[in-house]
Amino acid sequence: MGTVDNVSLTVSLYDRQRDERTRLSYNLAERHETAMPTPHELVVLESCDGCTACCLPQGAPPDYVALRINPHFADDPSFEEDVQRLNQLPSEAAQLLDHYLQQVERKEISTDGPCVWLNDDHTACRFYDHRPSTCRVFERGSPGCHYYRRLAGI
Ligand code: SF4
Ligand code: SF4
Repeated sequence: MGTVDNVSLTVSLYDRQRDERTRLSYNLAERHETAMPTPHELVVLESCDGCTACCLPQGAPPDYVALRINPHFADDPSFEEDVQRLNQLPSEAAQLLDHYLQQVERKEISTDGPCVWLNDDHTACRFYDHRPSTCRVFERGSPGCHYYRRLAGI
């Protein structure tokens, strides 16, 4: 758990520097290379419906991006469920992921823009049942949730 000035998020993600999936804690402000948004009272949200603040800077489903960029992660048992989900994605979801990775390769898209699985008005994940583990463990009301909500002004 972090302070107002240093909100960290502990999730099971891949560590870009160590090039491995690990349980890691990272500073959200550093991740997005921005100052911590000014603290203000946030309205308590009883559900995530219509929010998506935490999806807005993800670019694409994070664990699937990690697996596509680092195929050897598939040998890591902690990726087992994500590997299964990735292999069973609806064709449209897989195409959006592939297109995102191609655009990143060509430097045509920001990696911290809205997740490509968001619907047009950014109110919901279009493939929610297929979302990766990072999206599944992220908790409403957590410091990370509040960070992203402040970032998005929600
Ligand atoms: S996969 Fe869905 S839940 Fe996860 S960041 Fe993208 S839109 Fe949000
Ligand atoms: S976890 Fe928080 S930031 Fe993400 S959708 Fe739910 S309320 Fe919004």
